[in-house]
Amino acid sequence: MPLIVSNWKMNGLGADGVALASAVAAKVKADPAKSREVAVCPPFTLLERVGAAIAGSGVGLGGQDCAPKASGAFTGDVSAPMLKDAGCFWVILGHSERRAGHKETDAQVRAKLEAAEAAGLATIACVGETLAEREAGKALEVVAGQLQGSLPDKRPGRWVVAYEPVWAIGTGKTATADDIKAMHAHIRSCLGRRHGGLAGLSVLYGGSVKGDNAREILGVPGVDGALVGGASLKAEEFWAICTARS
Ligand code: PEP
Repeated sequence: MPLIVSNWKMNGLGADGVALASAVAAKVKADPAKSREVAVCPPFTLLERVGAAIAGSGVGLGGQDCAPKASGAFTGDVSAPMLKDAGCFWVILGHSERRAGHKETDAQVRAKLEAAEAAGLATIACVGETLAEREAGKALEVVAGQLQGSLPDKRPGRWVVAYEPVWAIGTGKTATADDIKAMHAHIRSCLGRRHGGLAGLSVLYGGSVKGDNAREILGVPGVDGALVGGASLKAEEFWAICTARS
């Protein structure tokens, strides 16, 4: 069953956000097949309102980041227990926009993943190479390094890794099916070796997934679902992605 996760990024004000979440929830609820798992990750300010809008629909709620500490003097930060308290099941961590824009290191991402798992959240850890790294033939090496540095040693019950080539995020470009297949196999191989098994793992692809390319991407062997940014801001298009493989 594919897992389709929406990342609204820093988009959404009250009425529009609730309307978008309600529309997605209504589609999931009305779908007799129930052959997909869907999550929405709105900005922090909308978590409670979106949570209320999707209640009872089967759609999961997620945050887009959390602090490595549970509480304390960290002005502006939001902790994993706070996300849990706000009704989250999921949290996205290590997104490339945070790695690049907020200079998050692998060690910081790892500390956040540990905090999130300690708080009982299911984590979505993002990895992916830049265009320069891919062109230098270093994509596999870079992603292996990010997995090694960012992921905690302890294997959680439910864990998700999202392969998101940085050059494909928000650009309209997507990796080729062959490159996605090779990277997803590589991710499984790195994790299997280190963690002694892959139980509970889903590996998602992210980067300009849209209604018109979702079928091909979700059909690539080793792709367990998608992390969707821009195309998740319109209910119809997001639903087209959700249903692309069914
Ligand atoms: C993302 O933000 O994780 C993402 C994949 O964005 P987009 O779908 O817009 O490329």
